[in-house]
Amino acid sequence: MNSEQLFEKSRRLVPGGVHSPVRSFKGLHCVPRFINRAEGAMLWDEEGKDYVDFCMSFGPLIHGHQDPDVKRAIVAALDRGWSYGACEKYSLELAEYMVERLPFIEQVRFTNSGTEAVMAAVRLARGITGRPKIIKFNGCYHGHLDAMLIKAGSGLAGTADASSKGVTDQQAGDTLIVELGDLPALEAVFRDHPGQVAALFIEPLPANNGLLVQTTEYLQGLRRLCDQYGALLVFDEVISGFRVHIGGMAGLTGVRPDLVTYGKIIGGGMPVGAVAGPRAHMEFLAPVGPVYQAGTLSGNPVAMAAGLANMKKLTPEAYQRLDEQSAAVVALMNEWGQAHGFEDYHTHRFGSLFWAVPSHRALKDITEIPSNLSERFYALFKALLEKGIYIAPNAWEVGFVSLAHDASVLNELRRRLWS
Ligand code: PMP
Repeated sequence: MNSEQLFEKSRRLVPGGVHSPVRSFKGLHCVPRFINRAEGAMLWDEEGKDYVDFCMSFGPLIHGHQDPDVKRAIVAALDRGWSYGACEKYSLELAEYMVERLPFIEQVRFTNSGTEAVMAAVRLARGITGRPKIIKFNGCYHGHLDAMLIKAGSGLAGTADASSKGVTDQQAGDTLIVELGDLPALEAVFRDHPGQVAALFIEPLPANNGLLVQTTEYLQGLRRLCDQYGALLVFDEVISGFRVHIGGMAGLTGVRPDLVTYGKIIGGGMPVGAVAGPRAHMEFLAPVGPVYQAGTLSGNPVAMAAGLANMKKLTPEAYQRLDEQSAAVVALMNEWGQAHGFEDYHTHRFGSLFWAVPSHRALKDITEIPSNLSERFYALFKALLEKGIYIAPNAWEVGFVSLAHDASVLNELRRRLWS
């Protein structure tokens, strides 16, 4: 069956034909490509057409598809059985690897997704402080838990009310929304809710409503306000963790979070998330503390082995190479865009993340996003897809460059762009 037939069948059996909304190519006037296999920087669809991949499973695959070391670790783990529901040393090795490299954490609790990690962090922050409310930023996405599906990004970006039905008013009422970049507005929210705010959640590199890079001074301002009002500062580094720097945005900016959530890279493409922080905070979690959190498959040995192998390869040299490759990819995209009808577009970059948007100025909050984004994106997406270049099928999602996007892939990218 080709992608069209598979999608038709899928729509009968699965809501909208997908298990995560962005995959549906909604608004892109074509059926999603069904991927048959992937290797290095390339994807192949069911029709056998190949694509240079800049979606990269939305971020975990920093070494590309089927990295041989990660694959070897997965295969070796499979030979020992793939789920025990008991203590094992593999999650311990991954936790140790993280704690040794992240000076602001002492303990880690693994989950099966970024959403679960954030869900644990919300409950933990409430348990630690005894306060009910959380603050999040308009446009930041923190997974699909009720408390965070209010003015979120990713698959909700660009929708009319940017929030989900099924979230109760009580849930929504405990989540306070602030615009990114506006410290006085944030302070006013703290002042209006004395002693009620458990935590401030932020993607320290907001990357789910395009790429809305904030300044270090702003992140320092958040730290100051959280200290002043007794709230925890939670960095959601599901995307940025181990990608922008070994220490994520916390490591890059030196701003210390009270709790951090991770996902994606720490699982190497397997379903993994984590909440991490100082021991004094983390030991509020069961079985030591009163905040319950659990998971049948948490700390899955295969996922843990994949994550460790993925991260062990992240040497300073690897980050340097990733940065150079990313700069080259973005330069090519911009050069091509200028000469091929996308003069209004610019591809902005932060490390190995990029976002193509019809604005030459880097944007800082969602109110600055041009209103013609969707319609322009459709043209860009279609042009690239036809040339065998796959970017995430949603105007608000960022692109990911991997270490597999090497010189030969770059040549191939150039050839395809100008073909
Ligand atoms: N937080 C952030 C910053 C994310 O980007 C995402 C997913 N892209 C999540 C949380 C949720 O992670 P998951 O999709 O693994 O549940």
